[in-house]
Amino acid sequence: MASAQPSSLATALASEQEKLLACVHCGLCLEACPTYVVTGDENDSPRGRLYLMRAVEEGRLAVESATFENHIDRCLGCRACEAACPAGVEYGQLLEAARAEITRSQPKPGGIHALLKFVLRHVWLKPKRLRAAFALARFVRDSRLARLLLRSGLARGISSEFEFALTLLDSSSSIIDKNYRASNDQALPARRMPAHRPQDAGAPVVLLFKACVTEGLFQRVNAATARVLEANGCQAQGPSGQVCCGALHAHAGELDGARTLARQNIDAFGESDTPVITNAGGCGAMLASYGHLLAEDEKYAQRARNFSARIRDIGQQLETDGFRNGAAIGVERTTYDASCHLLHGQHGSAAALQMLWAIPNLNFVLLKDSEVCCGGAGVYNLLEPELSEQVLAEKLKRIEDSGATVLATGNAGCHMQIAAGARLAGMSLRVCHPVELLDESYQRAGLYESER
Ligand code: SF4
Ligand code: SF4
Repeated sequence: MASAQPSSLATALASEQEKLLACVHCGLCLEACPTYVVTGDENDSPRGRLYLMRAVEEGRLAVESATFENHIDRCLGCRACEAACPAGVEYGQLLEAARAEITRSQPKPGGIHALLKFVLRHVWLKPKRLRAAFALARFVRDSRLARLLLRSGLARGISSEFEFALTLLDSSSSIIDKNYRASNDQALPARRMPAHRPQDAGAPVVLLFKACVTEGLFQRVNAATARVLEANGCQAQGPSGQVCCGALHAHAGELDGARTLARQNIDAFGESDTPVITNAGGCGAMLASYGHLLAEDEKYAQRARNFSARIRDIGQQLETDGFRNGAAIGVERTTYDASCHLLHGQHGSAAALQMLWAIPNLNFVLLKDSEVCCGGAGVYNLLEPELSEQVLAEKLKRIEDSGATVLATGNAGCHMQIAAGARLAGMSLRVCHPVELLDESYQRAGLYESER
C-alpha cells in the first residue's frame, strides 16, 4: 500500500524531534503556562499537550478524540512555554500544526466554531467584506448602541458570551469611561501632524502594516504610530493591497487561509529592505513567521523569509534609530502589560517600554506577572470563555494591586480583553497603546502643529 503524505503535525514533530527527546522528564514550562496554573491538569500544560501530539502521531490516540481536541483547544497559544523551555521547543508552530490536523480531520459540527470558520473563510479573506464588517462594528460602537444594549441588560439577557463580545467592542472606543479621572484630559486638537514633516530630502521610508483590527477599530493607534515615526524623521507609508496578517486563521488551524493572506501581504509590501512596522504584537509575530508558514512554497519561500526579516514593532524601530523625548503628560499612575506575541514572538517588549521611558516624570509602576497572558488570545475569549475568564481574573487582580489607572499594551486584542474585563469588574482603567502616550507626550512638547 502506498504510504500517505505525512501530516503537517508529523512534519512539525519530526523537525523538533531532538528537542522533544529532552521533554519527558523536564517540566520547567509547567508553571509558566497559564492554563496549567489555573486547572492543575497535566494535559493543560505544554508538556502534556506535546505528549498528546506525539500520541496522535504514533497512533496511540485518535485525532478525533475529545481528549486531544479539548486540551489543544484550551491552549492560549501564548508561547510562554517557549521562553521557559531549556530545550528550545518551538511550541507555537507545533500547536498550529495540531490545530490544522484537528480542522482537517473533524470539522467542528456547529455553534461558535462553525461561525468562526465561516467568518474566517468568507469575510476575513475578502477585504471588501471585512471593511464592511468593521464599518458595521464601528456603527454599533460609535452610535452607542452597544452601550445601550449593555446598560439596559438586554445583552446579558441574550447570553453572557454576547454581553462579553459587545463589551469587547465597546471597550475599543476612544471615549474614556466617565469613571476615569484623567488629570490630563484636556481636549487635544482633532488633527495633528509633526511640525516639520520629513516629506522628502532623503528621509528614510518605513512601511506601516495597518492590521485589520487596528485599522477597523483603533485607527487612532495607526495615526499615532505614523505621527511618532514622522516626528523622528521617518516617512511612514502604508502600502495598498495589504490584508489581515492571518494570525486568526493560523491559530484556528486554517493554515491555507493564513498562507493566502501571507502571499498577498508579501506582494503588497514588495521586495526591498525597507522595514515593515507593526504596532500589534499578534500581527507582528505572525508576519515574522511567514518564512516558516511558506517554507514549502517554491515560489514564495525565499520571499517570505526576506519579508519576515523586515518586521519590526514600532518600539523596536524607534529603539534602533534613536528617538526624541516628549513632555510630561500627567500624574495618573501608569503600568504596562506585555502582549504575549510581542514578548515571546518578536522579543519586542523591552523596546516597547522605552516609549514610556521617553515621557518625562511618568508615574510608572511595574505590573507583576506582566509577562503572563491576559486570556484574550485572538478569539480564545469567545471560544473558551470560562478558562479565559479565570486567566483574565488573575490579570485584573494584578492591575488592581498595582494601583494603576492607565494601562498601556501593544496589541489590539489585549487592549480589548483587559478593558472589557475592567469595565465588567467596575474598575476605573484607561487602556491604550504605548505609542498613544508617546504621541500625546510629543504633542505637549510642541512637536506637532495643528492643521486647523
Ligand atoms: S502556549 Fe501558553 S497556554 Fe499554550 S501550552 Fe504554552 S504556555 Fe500554556
Ligand atoms: S520546558 Fe521544554 S523540554 Fe521541558 S517539558 Fe516543557 S516543552 Fe518539554
